Amino acid sequence: MKTYRIAAIPADGIGPEVIAAGLQALETLAARDGSFRIDVTTFDWSSDRYKRTGALMPDDGPEQLKAFDAIFFGAVGAPDVPDHVTLWGLRLPICQGFDQYANVRPTRILPGISSPLAGIGPGDLDWVIVRENSEGEYSGNGGRTHRGMPEEVGTEVAIFTRVGVTRIMRYAFRLAQSRARKLLTVVTKSNAQRFGLVMWDEIAAEVAREFPDVTWDKMLVDAMTVRMVKNPKSLDTIVATNLHADILSDLAGALAGSLGVAPTANIDPERRYPSMFEPIHGSAFDIAGKGIANPVATFWTAAQMLEHLGEQAAAARLMRAVEKVCADGILTPDVGGTATTRDVTDAVCDAIRGSNV
Ligand code: NAD
Ligand code: MN
Repeated sequence: MKTYRIAAIPADGIGPEVIAAGLQALETLAARDGSFRIDVTTFDWSSDRYKRTGALMPDDGPEQLKAFDAIFFGAVGAPDVPDHVTLWGLRLPICQGFDQYANVRPTRILPGISSPLAGIGPGDLDWVIVRENSEGEYSGNGGRTHRGMPEEVGTEVAIFTRVGVTRIMRYAFRLAQSRARKLLTVVTKSNAQRFGLVMWDEIAAEVAREFPDVTWDKMLVDAMTVRMVKNPKSLDTIVATNLHADILSDLAGALAGSLGVAPTANIDPERRYPSMFEPIHGSAFDIAGKGIANPVATFWTAAQMLEHLGEQAAAARLMRAVEKVCADGILTPDVGGTATTRDVTDAVCDAIRGSNV
C-alpha cells in the first residue's frame, strides 16, 4: 500500500481548526479507499513559536520538510506580530525555497452557495487562476534609506526573469489546454509598467505559438476586475503576476461566495521538492476559536493535494462529498448557514463513507 508522508503546519488563528478538519477528511478517504495511507507529522511552527523563541520555524525548517511528499498548511498571522514578519518567516521561505513557482487557484460556485453576483450560479463561473509564485513583486528586493527622516525613501523592486515568466506561461497554457474551453487570459499592467510586464506580454505571445489550440487574450489588471464582475462567463484560465493574481484571487473567492471556500496549491511542477496546499484565507482572528471557520477551502485544497499525489479517484470523491454537503445546505455562517466547522466536517466524512458519493 502506498503511504504518503504529509507535513501539517496548522500555524495560527483558524489554521489549526481547518487543518484538523482537512486531516479528518483525508483519513476518512484513506480508510474508505483502502489503497493508500497518510502518515502525518504536525509541526508547531507559528506566531506563538515566534513569540516564544524569536523564530516562526527553526533554521533547518525547510530541510526538515524535504523528506515529505506534500505540505498541508493552515494560515499564518497574529494580531500582535507584524504581517510581514509572519509571512516572510514561514510561508514565503517555503514557497520560494522549494521553488513552488505555480500557484494554482481554482474558483467555482459550489451548489448551495450563492454568489454576490446577480444571476450567476453554479456552472456560470468556473475559473482557474495561475499565479506566478516565485518572483515578481514579492521577490523581496528593495530597501529603505533615511529611516524616519523627511527624506526617507522606500523601494519595492519587482523582478521578472525570462526563465520565470516563460515557465509560468507554459504552465498556464498547458493547464488551459487541458480544460474544456481551452481559453487563457494573460493579465498584466503593461501600459504603466513598461519593462518587466512588456516582457511578460512578449513571452506570452511566444509561448502561445507552442499551443495553437488554446485561444488567448490579454487584459490589464484594472480592467480585469471589471470583467470578472461584469462578464464572469467569458473567463476560464487566467495567468497573472504574483501581486496581481494575489488580489484577483481574493476577488474570485468573494465572487464564488466566500474566502472560506477558496483553495490554493503551491506547486513545484518539476517535482524536485514537496508542493504545499493551503486555503487562500488567512488566520481570521475575528472568528478564531469560535468553531465556525468554513473548512471547505481546506477540503478543496486537500483534493488538490490528492490529485498532485496521483490519487485522482480519492480527490474526486472528496469534491463530490463537499458538493453534496453544500447542496444539502450544511453551511457555515460565512456562506449564509448556521453549521459549525464540526457539523460540516462530520457531514463530509459521512458522505465519503456513504455509498452515495
Ligand atoms: P483573513 O482571510 O484571515 O480574513 C478575512 C475575512 O474573511 C474575515 O472576516 C474572516 O473571518 C473571513 N474568513 C476567512 N477565512 C474564513 C473561513 N475559513 N471561514 C469563514 N470566514 C473566513 O484575512 P485578514 O483578516 O486580512 O488577515 C488576518 C491575518 O491572516 C493577517 O495576519 C494576515 O496577514 C494573515 N493572512 C495569512 C494568509 C496565509 O497564511 N496564507 C493569507 C491571508 C492573510
Ligand atoms: Mn492573498
